[in-house]
Amino acid sequence: MSVDVASTALINATKGRELIGAFVNSAKLDEKMVLPQLEWLIGFHPMNRYTEIEYFVVRKGQYGRTLLVCAKKHTANQRLVGVAEGEDNVAEHEVSYVKCLRGRFGKVDSKVEVSRDIRMLFRRATTSSQWHKDQTTRLFAESQLCALCAATGKLEIDHVIPFKNILADYLKSKALSLDNICYKKTGELYSQGVDITADWVNYHNKTAVYRLLCRKCNARTACES
Ligand SMILES: [Zn+2]
Repeated sequence: MSVDVASTALINATKGRELIGAFVNSAKLDEKMVLPQLEWLIGFHPMNRYTEIEYFVVRKGQYGRTLLVCAKKHTANQRLVGVAEGEDNVAEHEVSYVKCLRGRFGKVDSKVEVSRDIRMLFRRATTSSQWHKDQTTRLFAESQLCALCAATGKLEIDHVIPFKNILADYLKSKALSLDNICYKKTGELYSQGVDITADWVNYHNKTAVYRLLCRKCNARTACES
């Protein structure tokens, strides 16, 4: 038994809900399953971070509800919200696949919050790149002065072309909007199921020019742009 959630059959959250719901209702109770595609999908859960899944299983819950459950290894310091304690150091959690589908299709309740998260993830993708680290090291090695007012002291990395313009140009060049970008909590950005993270970072790193600014100048240029 498997469920083909990553395929073209899963075209939207409603369809996905039907597909997984049907799978859950037809699955054999208490039979452990390895479902890589479902594991991929639940990476989109907007709050929880599911990692290292041991197996999926369908259980009968309270009031005769059929529950899709995943089991993951837990460590002592992880907060457990599971429905049941399974075998040795494995905890079972109900999978809220509807939320995962919403995450996958960019339909989480607060649109504003999601858009902020997505912008933050676009930024984080670039700052975790080797290019960013190299540029930062180079700039600090070259100068200890603000590029605008020559102040010394605490200096910050600033985009000469504002970051938001680079992002807007990138999205425009790919005919994308923030509304149809999805993301995983691990930070990867998706458009229509395709991971665009590397493509974006490559675009950013080819376009961006960094400089060092003091806090005052950085705050001022951020307000102006
Ligand atoms: Zn300055």
